[in-house]
Amino acid sequence: MITWSMILGFPNNPRRDLVEEVRWIGESKFDFVDLFLEEDKATPDSIDTGEVKRLLTDYGLDTVGHTPYYLPVGSPSKPLRSAAVHEAIRCFEVFRRLDVEFVAIHADWPSGLFTVDDGLKFQIESLNFLTDEAEKYGITLLYEPTISKENRVENIERILEAMPRLMLLLDIGHANLNNNKPVEFIERFSDKIRHVHLSDNDGSGDLHLPIGCGKIDWHETLRCLKRCYDGTITLEIFSSDRNYALFSRRSLKEIWGRV
Ligand SMILES: [Zn+2]
Repeated sequence: MITWSMILGFPNNPRRDLVEEVRWIGESKFDFVDLFLEEDKATPDSIDTGEVKRLLTDYGLDTVGHTPYYLPVGSPSKPLRSAAVHEAIRCFEVFRRLDVEFVAIHADWPSGLFTVDDGLKFQIESLNFLTDEAEKYGITLLYEPTISKENRVENIERILEAMPRLMLLLDIGHANLNNNKPVEFIERFSDKIRHVHLSDNDGSGDLHLPIGCGKIDWHETLRCLKRCYDGTITLEIFSSDRNYALFSRRSLKEIWGRV
């Protein structure tokens, strides 16, 4: 039996001081930081990349990049799409300085009078440009489907088929919403997944609960994931008491060892 050990990371809370966040992640012996480059304390302008890089080296931490989840890459407004692309490239500059290889960009679907086909067209236009740009920075761009109802296997498939160089960040919490099941995404996109986010929920929203506090079938999900994937996994447990994150790490390792 293949027994891959888990490569586990934790995100900085961008509303808190980045240096303090990296210290906690390092002291807590995670393998990498999922660097949320976002307002208001971890923006491309506000962070000291030299200091962050020194700290990452000291703790032996790798880094995965995460652009803000609210970039309107699929907006019906062309000027807003351009601004989103411009902001993502500012993030690429920081990530290159930190030697980051994989960077996430989030799905963004227009609402109201606009259709799924419109949303595909808007996103593909932005993402085509961004995958070209990312390559110049030595970055592989990862598409992270979010919480909207359009994030279904068939729509994601159309995005990924249109852009063979775009890879997938599978967020297991997001894949448990809108009557979807995480295993369907894992099985369908096993050759495209390059990074994973994990948190629990009860299907009602993106709750970022500790593992075992929601309704995700972790035995089934991790058994499937372990069969298809051996890369980095970020624990996205957003509790102000971080003992819940450490507890989740222990449970995950324990389940991973058994499935
Ligand atoms: Zn996520």
